[in-house]
Order: sequence, then C-alpha cells, then structure tokens
Amino acid sequence: MKKLLTILIGLTATGLLLIGQTNEKSSKGFVMDKVVKSDKEWETCLTPQEFQILREKGTERAFTGEYYNHKEDGTYICAGCENELFSSNTKYDSGSGWPAFFDALDETKVKIKRDLSYGMVRTEIICAKCDSHLGHVFEDGPKPTGLRYCVNSLALDFVPIK
Ligand code: FE
Repeated sequence: MKKLLTILIGLTATGLLLIGQTNEKSSKGFVMDKVVKSDKEWETCLTPQEFQILREKGTERAFTGEYYNHKEDGTYICAGCENELFSSNTKYDSGSGWPAFFDALDETKVKIKRDLSYGMVRTEIICAKCDSHLGHVFEDGPKPTGLRYCVNSLALDFVPIK
C-alpha cells in the first residue's frame, strides 16, 4: 500500500512537472530560426543594390522600385531570407514612391528600432529573422493601425497567391 502511494505521488509529480514545462514553453512564445551571415556571405547572395539597402541601411530612390505601384494579391517576403513580412491586404498607396503597408503580417516578423541617422528621428524596420534593414515605420498611416510601414522594394520579393 505504501509502495502504491509512493508510485501515485511520483506520477502526480511527473505530471505536474510536464504541465509546468509546457506552460513555460508557451509563455516564451514563438522562437524564430535566425539567419546569420557575414558581410562576405551576404555579398555573394545579394545584388550590390540589395546589399546596400539590406545590410548598409540604404534607401532606394522614390518611384524607382518594383513594388511601390504593385497591386497583385500575395505575400511580400524578405529579399534576404524569404521571411514572410507583409500581405497585399495591408498594402496601400501612400503616394511616397515606396511600397507602404499599414501592418506587418504579424508582430513576430519584423522588429523596430529607433534610428537617429541623417539628423532625423525615425523608426527603423528590421527583418526579425535575418536582421536586414527594410525601411522605416511612420505614424501617419491609415486606420486601423495608423501606421505606415515604408519599405524599400529592393528589400522585398513577392509571392503571388496561386
Ligand atoms: Fe530577412
């Protein structure tokens, strides 16, 4: 009888431990596989123009990119790592000459960071998976978010809905 009790207590403890572990995992949230490359490696897989935008935080000239006036249905992915970033459902014409979105595909896809370069206070958009520079986010976007994710076409590739 004592042995049975010990086994029961043991099983209960193991069960609690397992539940605890599951909770701990879910409380940590989604963990993304990072893409980490040296500048040399990036140079071999990006065009010089893409490298300048993605890895050196450049900006393409307005109204020159492939996607500012692009209206197909689909998903915009990171040109550096193919991370899905923006949906055509949130794309709108901001008139700025760069592709604009009022939201990211979800909050795990991009990171934002204060950018004080060129004497301006801006908020940089970075790919959460490969840490490439994508563009800047401004607070003059349409509802429901009021945000304008202003992204370089060269930082994006497009996957149409089949
Ligand atoms: Fe990326």
